[in-house]
Amino acid sequence: MKIYSHEKQKLHHPQSYFSRGQMRQPQEKPERLTELLKAPEALGLEVTTAKDIGIEPILAVHDFGYVDFLKHGYEEWMAVDEDMGEEVQTTIYMPHNNAGLGILAKAAKYQADGSAPIGKHSWTSIYWSAQTALNAADSLLNEETNQNKLQICLTRPAGHHARKSAAGGFCYLNNAAIIAEHLRQKFQKIAIIDTDMHHGQGIQEIFYDRKDVLYTSVHGSPINFYPVVAGHEHEKGEGEGYGYNINFPMPHDTDEAGFFHHVDKAIKTIKLFNPDVIVHVLGFDVYKDDPQAKCHVSTEGFKTLAQKLKALDKPVIVLVEGGYCIEKLNENLQAFLSGFISEEK
Ligand SMILES: [Zn+2]
Repeated sequence: MKIYSHEKQKLHHPQSYFSRGQMRQPQEKPERLTELLKAPEALGLEVTTAKDIGIEPILAVHDFGYVDFLKHGYEEWMAVDEDMGEEVQTTIYMPHNNAGLGILAKAAKYQADGSAPIGKHSWTSIYWSAQTALNAADSLLNEETNQNKLQICLTRPAGHHARKSAAGGFCYLNNAAIIAEHLRQKFQKIAIIDTDMHHGQGIQEIFYDRKDVLYTSVHGSPINFYPVVAGHEHEKGEGEGYGYNINFPMPHDTDEAGFFHHVDKAIKTIKLFNPDVIVHVLGFDVYKDDPQAKCHVSTEGFKTLAQKLKALDKPVIVLVEGGYCIEKLNENLQAFLSGFISEEK
């Protein structure tokens, strides 16, 4: 098992976000990564610092104008006048505007909701989050034997809500999509299993008409729950991608057995698909005491989840995404890691 991370992911420090008619205190804080990094340390596992693989794999998924906005938007925003808030934060979403008339128009084009603010150091963390994920993918591309069958990327900020050209839901670059696309250089079939509390509508959108990347997600029903506009069972893909997008929305307040009932169904679809590589979007926000939780997974449940993935006996890349019960991230990640370590070949 190999674990990747990068300290620069701590620089992104949101000050507020807007959701459900309220300005809120950020839940997606730098301390999340600090807590996550305690888990491998407690288990005596080495964490490899991600190296720079470059911008090209990012631009293979995201539009250049959007990436340029993430990188330079803050400076342009602050240069408008003294009346600007200290984070790029749109109050308008109009994805089809031409974004040629200034930074406020760009923000209206590239920020899909009020929960992806951009501060001075956000791009650095966003970039290194993608690089952390890419390091795991790159190791599979570059080795002949796939020795590193189980790889875990401690990534922050998360990615699964990010669209081709819009940020949202604490997400900026879609790490799962970026590495799935990167892996396609060598591998024919990639399966993405998303067990974060929220549906990863960004991944769904990016691969909706493709059959080479299966997306299957277990998440809280999107009825009155983020991302609200996607994540229903009837969204199955289109064109040759029909049948390769499989959603398992859970009713709110689902117990742990119910969660695993849905996970088992998702795993069944993966077995049928028979992928070369599995990408797992791991959200600790399914944990019973998480402020975002609409189900009740225990600490021990994360170990069970890891064991189920390991039993598939394929290369697995795990991307740690949601999880806002900060004081439990260390313990919950330790539980997950112990599921991968146990009976390791
Ligand atoms: Zn989530």
